[in-house]
Amino acid sequence: AKEQSQAGHIVFDTTMYDRAVELLQLETDLRWAVERQELCIFYQPIICIKTGKITGFEALVRWQHPERGLISPTEFIPVAEETGLIIPIGQWVLTESCKQLRQWQLQFPAIKPLTLNVNLSGKQFSQPHLIEQISQILQDTGLSSSNLKLEITETAIIASPQKATSILKQLKAFGLQLCIDDFGTGYSSLAYLHNFPIDVLKIDRSFVNRIDSDTEQFAIVRAIVTLADNLGMSVVAEGVETINQLAQLQLLQCQQAQGYLFSKPLDQEQARNLLASGQSF
Ligand code: C2E
Ligand code: CA
Ligand code: CA
Ligand code: CA
Repeated sequence: AKEQSQAGHIVFDTTMYDRAVELLQLETDLRWAVERQELCIFYQPIICIKTGKITGFEALVRWQHPERGLISPTEFIPVAEETGLIIPIGQWVLTESCKQLRQWQLQFPAIKPLTLNVNLSGKQFSQPHLIEQISQILQDTGLSSSNLKLEITETAIIASPQKATSILKQLKAFGLQLCIDDFGTGYSSLAYLHNFPIDVLKIDRSFVNRIDSDTEQFAIVRAIVTLADNLGMSVVAEGVETINQLAQLQLLQCQQAQGYLFSKPLDQEQARNLLASGQSF
């Protein structure tokens, strides 16, 4: 998108310029988003494949921008990462979602377990005092550490495996559950995997997508489930959209699933209503 002009200057085309301005504006707006209470959290149910019961929710942040409407986290999380704003945003998501989950646990004591998955970005993962902050949030909200599952990507771990191992061990010792998110999409961590105290692998949607029509995809998912089994981990299949995909996952004895087949991410009220309905899948 850029060219050398004859004088040797770099000429940007307008789309690139527009994009830069847009990003800058986004960053400025994002700085205020938490204080202006423009962020909100949606909750997507995670289902036990064997029983069809809801075992918990993944917290997914949304940004209700006053002019631009709902902005996807895939758009603003990278900006938040780059600017460091992910630290206060992540802290807010963690606090709010722990508070919410604890409230639902108290309102629906018959639903057990009822756990919470929260995404942790690379920057958050390696920030100092992570444990102290989480510990404080759990203390303030009353959520038990065993009910909180942190989702971390392979990329965040592989960036510095030794440091990551030490952080993961501390989180684990504190009683938290640890998940690798988007498993299979990052640089392979297979060589390291057994060194990390990981509880759950979340198989990326791209593998689950064609599990019912593509024998190679099926083989990959089967290999991941076997690997997890042998390492004492469990598996959540992400992005399950069809009955056929679910049937294949059942065949492979994959433990849990999440996806539009069961439910899209729900706002607070919809999620509460779902719990109140006692529905299983
Ligand atoms: P993710 O952690 O892999 O979350 C799953 C994404 O897949 C969510 O998109 C969810 O809405 C979507 N999804 C769930 N089921 C299906 C399905 O059956 N089909 C399809 N096509 N999609 C499905 P969402 O909410 O837009 O979030 C996108 C990404 O943004 C997340 O991917 C995560 O990486 C990031 N993100 C969201 N909330 C947070 C947060 O609080 N902190 C951090 N650090 N990242 C977050
Ligand atoms: Ca996730
Ligand atoms: Ca994921
Ligand atoms: Ca993803």
